[in-house]
Amino acid sequence: MFDYHVHSLFSADSKMKLEDACDAAIAAGVKEIAFTEHIDYFYPNCDLIFDFDYQEYAKAVEVIQEKYREKLTVLKAVEIGIHPFKHLENKEFANSHYFDFIIGSVHLADDLDLHNGDYFKEKTLDEAVETYFLTINQYVKEFKDFNVLGHLTLIKRYLHYVKAHWADVKWKNYYDIIEDTFKALIETERGIEVNMSGFRYRIDCALPDLPFLKLYKDVGGEIITVGTDAHSKHFVGKHLDLGYELLGKAGFKYVTTFRERKPKFVPINLR
Ligand SMILES: [Zn+2]
Ligand SMILES: [Zn+2]
Repeated sequence: MFDYHVHSLFSADSKMKLEDACDAAIAAGVKEIAFTEHIDYFYPNCDLIFDFDYQEYAKAVEVIQEKYREKLTVLKAVEIGIHPFKHLENKEFANSHYFDFIIGSVHLADDLDLHNGDYFKEKTLDEAVETYFLTINQYVKEFKDFNVLGHLTLIKRYLHYVKAHWADVKWKNYYDIIEDTFKALIETERGIEVNMSGFRYRIDCALPDLPFLKLYKDVGGEIITVGTDAHSKHFVGKHLDLGYELLGKAGFKYVTTFRERKPKFVPINLR
């Protein structure tokens, strides 16, 4: 298995040591781990600074790569928070440093945070969900310097702010927007990830879940990774098996790995 979404202490919201993540990964049967540290250059009303020193990060990862060489492949990666105010800085960061793999994620919509609930104030459930998907659609067309779109349907984690559950949402109403988003990704050799953090947040589903994975497959999607989004060692490698199971159910025969931001397709049964 490959855990393609892990945050170490180089991310502002994690304290996990690289070694602890690697030991947990090996114990969970993971063969490859990507340290996808946060950069999120526009993040209002938040005390954390989502940025890291690339040189320090690269040096630390290289030490770990050497230490774990026989047991685990360790990749340099980043999770870029996409926002129109920061497209240029994000592009510069992505292209002036070496990365094996880049996730592009949308953590805000309407310039407001989903996580702290600001985004949901004065919105109905439908407005919140539609604006969320339209925002992602716009952003992936404007900013292309990443390999997979992170945690599509992240909004499911925060629907308690509008007193709803994700099962209440008529997701099909947004399939046109989502299909268009998938096509924009596919045309530019990008893909999506299956993010297993939903199980940690007690919503018991992958982000995105099976119907979206089927839709992605139906419109020709091939590039797809699976990651835990672990911020502590307890979650490294956790639920990845469920993610691969979903890929199989959606009709995927391969999962994607990356080197130097180039995709490689590995049969799911040989992972
Ligand atoms: Zn994220
Ligand atoms: Zn993340």
